[in-house]
Amino acid sequence: MPRLLPALADTPDRPALRFGDRALTYGELASAAAPLASRLDGSARVAVWATPTLETAVGVVAALLAGVAAVPVNPKSGDSELGHIVADSAPDAVLAAPGTELPPALAALARIDIDVRVDPGPPAVLPVEPDDPDTPAFVVYTSGTTGPPKGAVLPRRAVSSTLDALRDAWQWTDRDTLVHGLPLFHVHGLILGIIGPLRRGGSVRHLGRFDTDGVTRELASGATMLFGVPTMYHRIAEALPTDPALAKALSSARLLVSGSAALPVHDHERITAATGQRVVERYGMTETLMNTSVRADGDPRPGTVGVPLPGVELRLAEDDGTTEVPSGDPEAVGEIQVRGPNLFLEYLNRPDATAGAFAPGGWFRTGDMAVRDPDGYVRIIGRKATDLIKSGGYKIGAGEIENALLEHPGVKEAAVKGAPDTDLGERVVAWIVPADAQNPPGAEELADHVAGRLSPHKRPRTVHYLDALPRNDMGKILKRSLPDG
Ligand code: ATP
Ligand code: MG
Repeated sequence: MPRLLPALADTPDRPALRFGDRALTYGELASAAAPLASRLDGSARVAVWATPTLETAVGVVAALLAGVAAVPVNPKSGDSELGHIVADSAPDAVLAAPGTELPPALAALARIDIDVRVDPGPPAVLPVEPDDPDTPAFVVYTSGTTGPPKGAVLPRRAVSSTLDALRDAWQWTDRDTLVHGLPLFHVHGLILGIIGPLRRGGSVRHLGRFDTDGVTRELASGATMLFGVPTMYHRIAEALPTDPALAKALSSARLLVSGSAALPVHDHERITAATGQRVVERYGMTETLMNTSVRADGDPRPGTVGVPLPGVELRLAEDDGTTEVPSGDPEAVGEIQVRGPNLFLEYLNRPDATAGAFAPGGWFRTGDMAVRDPDGYVRIIGRKATDLIKSGGYKIGAGEIENALLEHPGVKEAAVKGAPDTDLGERVVAWIVPADAQNPPGAEELADHVAGRLSPHKRPRTVHYLDALPRNDMGKILKRSLPDG
């Protein structure tokens, strides 16, 4: 298999990575990563203490060069989650920035410091990378939104095929510079956000921590792309009316991309109104990397995640898991199933979960429910487990009710869920964070607002008020932490 990151050898003088005021060219990155890769030789898996730093990026590149699977570990994980990940993935060592104090769960592992200092000298000699595309490149733990995190084993083929599909869709080149403000322990921040630009020979500037001033600064000084999660685009939408420099910087970007959760239509529309830009949504997951998006020269449609990427097959299946819903019917709800070179190999140590995740024919069951419009655009309704409400004979998606609630000026955040109901089977329950806590909109008013925009059976029967919704590090709403009722 050809090298995953050819620019390490081909364009040594070009900028590769920048975190704050620390930066590496491709040549410097190769010189830092190659000696580390030789120390990893003979390992099967290594944990990487994935702080948002240059060290994490160098550690992961070294593991890719060595053909050793990298297991990115969230430094904010609690002891029990860390214990689970270490016991489950049994890494041969942990890579961390020098001086980092590691918690007890990792203390028993051999430790390798990631040294990013580069001495001037001849160009690095890069190791020979594995030939077999099935060689694991990463073990990434799922976000744990619906249950305990599972370790998805991602082969090198999945990484190269997903990044090359995005190259084609987004016309992503070595002239692109990405602004990045996401954590580095999930596929979005790490594989798309770091390995993506490096595979293209472009560069990435990491903000350390997302803030709108950093976005303005980087886009105003030549960066071309922004990757974010919906909570970031929400903050951008809120800031735009009073921040003309942000609006100007965003207008100049080549590509704004959102993923990891649904981008509320209201936020998307506010950003378009203030900047003239449409946000390209993409849909992916740990197990499949990227499934759908819109072409850079295409037509993003708010509320949809676009069309399958080149090489990805996608179908919507009925409850039996194998029959396809009627094609061309924009009302026909089915579970998204995907097949293609982007798929994971297995869940580590979970043969039953792996077997249960596939339908006959090698189709991966995503657990996400969607409809498809006649042009093939996929509109995600939500997760089968938490977002599909079966009420009075209807199948109602939580997402469209959340979008409708967010259009009410008194609503800052919204989550919708089903609760058991003796008459309806399930009834619609809304959890609201009001824009003004002193003056929240009434439950009746919100229910009428939804019923007026959608239809009467989608009316929330109960409305609860909260100060904030429970969210994980990626800003995903943790619906299982909201009580039933
Ligand atoms: P777990 O599998 O442990 O419950 P998780 O599914 O949140 O956690 P990830 O693999 O990080 O873990 O997230 C993938 C999921 O995120 C998808 O299955 C989908 O539900 C959601 N998602 C990703 N992108 C989008 C998007 N653009 N719109 C709506 N949902 C999205
Ligand atoms: Mg999942």
